[in-house]
Amino acid sequence: MKLLNDHLKEEYGCKVYKLSLQLNVTCPVRDGRLDTRGCIFCSEGGSGDFAACRNKSVTEQIAEAKERVLAKAGTHAKYIAYFQSFTNTYGDTDYLERSYREAMEPDDIVALSIGTRPDCISDEMLDILGKLNKIKPVWIELGLQTIHPESAHYIRRGYELSVYDECVDRLRKKGITVIVHVILGLPGESHEDMKESVRYVCASGVQGIKLQLLHVLKGTDLYQDYLQGKVPVMSMEEYMELLSELLPLIPDDVVIHRLTGDGPKRLLAAPLWTADKKRVLNEIKKLTEQ
Ligand code: SF4
Repeated sequence: MKLLNDHLKEEYGCKVYKLSLQLNVTCPVRDGRLDTRGCIFCSEGGSGDFAACRNKSVTEQIAEAKERVLAKAGTHAKYIAYFQSFTNTYGDTDYLERSYREAMEPDDIVALSIGTRPDCISDEMLDILGKLNKIKPVWIELGLQTIHPESAHYIRRGYELSVYDECVDRLRKKGITVIVHVILGLPGESHEDMKESVRYVCASGVQGIKLQLLHVLKGTDLYQDYLQGKVPVMSMEEYMELLSELLPLIPDDVVIHRLTGDGPKRLLAAPLWTADKKRVLNEIKKLTEQ
């Protein structure tokens, strides 16, 4: 099992921090191309509620984000510029390319990480990403969430599994690092279903995986279903049990980027135990050190 922090330490010889940045973008599940309601679990912040303010330039956002981690990071740390919220390859290509380049410019930014969807990477965008990947590593984070069609329909993902497969193939042909998000605890999914998703992702030729426990955030349609008793919520013990089943399925060449979710406290409706980050991380540490 390889965790992201260990992988980055090996690669760069020091701790590497992710700086969450925002672009002026939306996504096809919100702008009407596929839907206007957003994915069922997604908050208004577009799954990036901790990111910096999108009205500021990328350079300003980087400076502010660094300021926030300075006490922990010190002056010799390295960083990854992370465009997390919404669909960061969806929009005006010139604007996007300019923004990516601006984010990669500083010497202490060692990689660019871009959160997006597999149905939103045009050939033109792929060429841009391929070019940038020759300057500094480009990571593409794909929100797959599940391989199961019923769950994909429930969350309003809006694309088929074959679109994911094809996208991974195109990105890998350009040598781009691919990281895939999987949500654990979607309504109706058994442990076996989740194992199938993790196995599938690990066998699909990607370099990283993010496992995120389903968070019910206030203001989302998922919250409405939760209030009606349609969304079962795992206890911490159940979640740790599930992780202990999933972790052995992940080979060492697929780096584990995350083992829990990071929903903002002010919006979190359930499971509330996840707000106690320290306790959760301690439990996860016990698991990963076994
Ligand atoms: S999860 Fe991503 S694709 Fe879905 S609504 Fe949120 S920003 Fe859009």
